[in-house]
Amino acid sequence: MRFRKAVLALVLAAGAEAGQRVSPEEADLLAKSLRPEGRAELQSNAAPIAQLPVSEVQAELDPKAARVEGQLRLVVRNREAQPWHEVVLRAYPNSGRGTWLRVEDVRVEGKRVSARSHGTVVAVPAELPPGTTAAISLTFRGQLERLSDGEDDPLSAAADALAQMAPGLAVLSGKPRTDKGYGTFAVGPRGAVLVDWYPQLAARAHGVWDRDEPGPLGDASHADPGSALVALTVPKGWRVAGAGSALGQHPVADGKETATFAAAGVRGALGLAASPDYEELTEETAGVQLRASSMHGEAGARALLVCAGAALSSLQARFGPYPWTALALAEVSLTGGAGGVELPGFALLAQALSPREQGSLAAPGMFDFTCYHEVAHQWWQGVVGSDPRRAPWVDESLAQYSAVLVTEDTKGKAAADRAERIFVALNYHGMRMAHVKDGKVARPADEFRSPLAYAGLVYGKAPLLAGADGWLSAASRADPEHALELAALQKRWWEEKHGDEDIGPLDGLALMEGLGGGSAFSQLVRALQQDGSAGDSQMKDAIRQLERLMPELSRMLQDPDPNQP
Ligand SMILES: [Zn+2]
Repeated sequence: MRFRKAVLALVLAAGAEAGQRVSPEEADLLAKSLRPEGRAELQSNAAPIAQLPVSEVQAELDPKAARVEGQLRLVVRNREAQPWHEVVLRAYPNSGRGTWLRVEDVRVEGKRVSARSHGTVVAVPAELPPGTTAAISLTFRGQLERLSDGEDDPLSAAADALAQMAPGLAVLSGKPRTDKGYGTFAVGPRGAVLVDWYPQLAARAHGVWDRDEPGPLGDASHADPGSALVALTVPKGWRVAGAGSALGQHPVADGKETATFAAAGVRGALGLAASPDYEELTEETAGVQLRASSMHGEAGARALLVCAGAALSSLQARFGPYPWTALALAEVSLTGGAGGVELPGFALLAQALSPREQGSLAAPGMFDFTCYHEVAHQWWQGVVGSDPRRAPWVDESLAQYSAVLVTEDTKGKAAADRAERIFVALNYHGMRMAHVKDGKVARPADEFRSPLAYAGLVYGKAPLLAGADGWLSAASRADPEHALELAALQKRWWEEKHGDEDIGPLDGLALMEGLGGGSAFSQLVRALQQDGSAGDSQMKDAIRQLERLMPELSRMLQDPDPNQP
């Protein structure tokens, strides 16, 4: 372990000294984060690793101050035929309320330049003729959202009250609430989540940098593949989980610890989570190192390994090899109804969904389904690279449907049918129950004005195309004979409004099952049925739940989404 630490120090020093490029040691570490299949895929779809941008990050998390500070060195190559006059970076925490990420001391090839920041866009003046490389360095400082204890309680989000009515609505990263973030750049008593946490290279298409500001719904970032070598210092006793190869966590000065990760071919910032409560387990499954970090002890970590292992086996057999040598999973505190967050090589799951969480309100099977969904994102978006902001229905519907397929491979057809009813179709039914009309699926995230419509259409209706008349299997064979039929089906489900007809009426059984789980109501009913009495605390829980549920429900019933086309 000490050896690894020495290697990293050497690698970072070598890069910095050269003032440019990436050292051979670093290139080797990055290459080792990909399996041979992943390396071949990356090379044929993007570029050889040596030509991809590389971010070197050294940072420190201060949980008490809710701050993260550090240095970034970004080596970027102009692989286009036209010269570049600027390089655009994105600082996504600037799009959140109460969070920010500022850059200072921006240098190109060691020379100070004046970068222009506006919103999440940081434009760095830099002359890069075709085929040349530049090293951009800067310091950054970020203000994280502060979470208080219990703020990730599913009941604390209004949309989660709805989830009590129809758990599908809490959605699996459906992220239905818009007034406050999802806790993806946040710290609380149970740890920190660092998504899009340092300045990252903007995506580039048709010779133009992506400068579009994200809306409040869905995933904020969109990026092209690059590599990252990241070292994060945390207080002693905290453990860090992250994407890519884990190069170890070691004591440093002042009683702190530094954890280091390396990953090639990842989109956006290398994601991290840190917590004083993590129990960690590692296992080799289906040719991939699985690392689990749970807030629910060894049993919790074991459950993460089991669901991720099942998802990997099923999805690799169905959709081709997972590209990296490691996949990390971590439980985190998420808010705003997010059940999970996908990052390349890293799946985050809301710890509140864990069946091991006391008083968990998640429906049975929801934790596993969310786990399958987030692992499936490794293919849909991670590898395929659709734009989650402009085409959210593509990766979300495929992740949803893939989770149904993993359920089928792991637990059988009956369980898959149940999962489809409760965790997919119920999103649509919940939307309709709240008097929101059916609408067009194929819209950018910021054209959905209501979280309910977003959840109902993107997580509910859109995925059901995949199963309709064998659409997905025919589409993946790219069968020219059926091309017209497939296009017609796709139009029907994703462009037109036949949801009520195609999905059918609300499945009462699914709703009851969804209502079941650990909800305070059902516990109360069960207690009353069993011995004709209920304890004080059960009554209190049920009343508390009812109080939170009612205003939101009545608001929704009076105020159906006015923006439905
Ligand atoms: Zn998702």
